[in-house]
Amino acid sequence: MGIIRPLDDHLANQIAAGEVVERPASVLKELIENAVDADSSRIDVSAEEGGLNSLRVADNGTGIQSDDLLLAFQRHATSKIATGKDLFQISTLGFRGEALPSIAAVAKVKCVSATDDSGLGRVVEIEGGTLLANRDTNAPKGTEMIVKDLFYNTPARLKYMKTIQTELGHLSDVVYRQALARPDIAFTFSHNGNVLLRTPGNGDLRQVVAAIYGTSSAKAMIEVREDNPDYSIIGLTAMPIETRANRNAVTVLVNGRYVRSQAVVQPLMQAYHTLLPLHRYPLTVLDLRMHPTLVDVNVHPAKLEVRFSKENELRSFVESAVKKALGSEAYIPSGTSV
Ligand code: ADP
Ligand code: MG
Repeated sequence: MGIIRPLDDHLANQIAAGEVVERPASVLKELIENAVDADSSRIDVSAEEGGLNSLRVADNGTGIQSDDLLLAFQRHATSKIATGKDLFQISTLGFRGEALPSIAAVAKVKCVSATDDSGLGRVVEIEGGTLLANRDTNAPKGTEMIVKDLFYNTPARLKYMKTIQTELGHLSDVVYRQALARPDIAFTFSHNGNVLLRTPGNGDLRQVVAAIYGTSSAKAMIEVREDNPDYSIIGLTAMPIETRANRNAVTVLVNGRYVRSQAVVQPLMQAYHTLLPLHRYPLTVLDLRMHPTLVDVNVHPAKLEVRFSKENELRSFVESAVKKALGSEAYIPSGTSV
């Protein structure tokens, strides 16, 4: 008799959770991405105690059909891709079908969802991977996810959580980047009952920047806008005097997804060249659009890193777009090469 056997689902989910769910902010990221993928125009986020006690994301998106609600919590179950071909042209933020089962394996989760305005929907409750309830309920159209007591059954992981303030910092970061990525969605974010962010959802990036970084920073930013057959870029970047010491000042979005990419940040810095003091970063939001086949998002479980198939072309595109924006504001005297 051999000794190799498949892991049971519960154990497999707990292992996957180790990868996907590092801290409350990783849960929040997955929940907001799901709300965005569901074509929501409003997303309300609230957290208690840095998200360790509770995280709630409510959206007004498509909702999940009653028959599907339990499936959504099954490993590798997704409505977003179906074939191998789909994997090379991903247009949604999620696609792995791993988030919900992973989260439900290490927390107490309640999900209420309805697909129309009939007032009828369904609720599922799962604690540490064990199903507690799956029944009809009254619900408005959209989805509400409540995640409580994260890591309550994995004390080793819980021990690694930092202070409430640190966890809150990570939560804010997730909400801010997602709000910057989607000025067309109205976000609210509150922590322990205090509203920390409210964006109008009218499509105006500058207003989102104002809500996050303050009105004067937003007013001082310069528009970046450029197109070629492969890429388009729109965004805002700071005047050379408005810089920050931290590279977090730069938000890079690729097809609506926040990513960390040297392939975009380096040419941005290159464009500023000597206009930037050493080790300073310009407050910047760059929203890059390209055909999904030009970018591979399936590199990293948290999907923070991506691979570009024509990286050199992209680098020169970004550099020239930013140079043009800076030049048109006369920070770079014309005829001077920077
Ligand atoms: P993925 O996002 O990779 O597909 P998830 O585990 O995050 O995997 O979610 C599983 C499925 O549950 C999604 O494919 C989607 O069909 C559904 N779902 C999850 N959250 C929402 C939501 N807020 N609104 C509508 N559908 C959702
Ligand atoms: Mg998802």
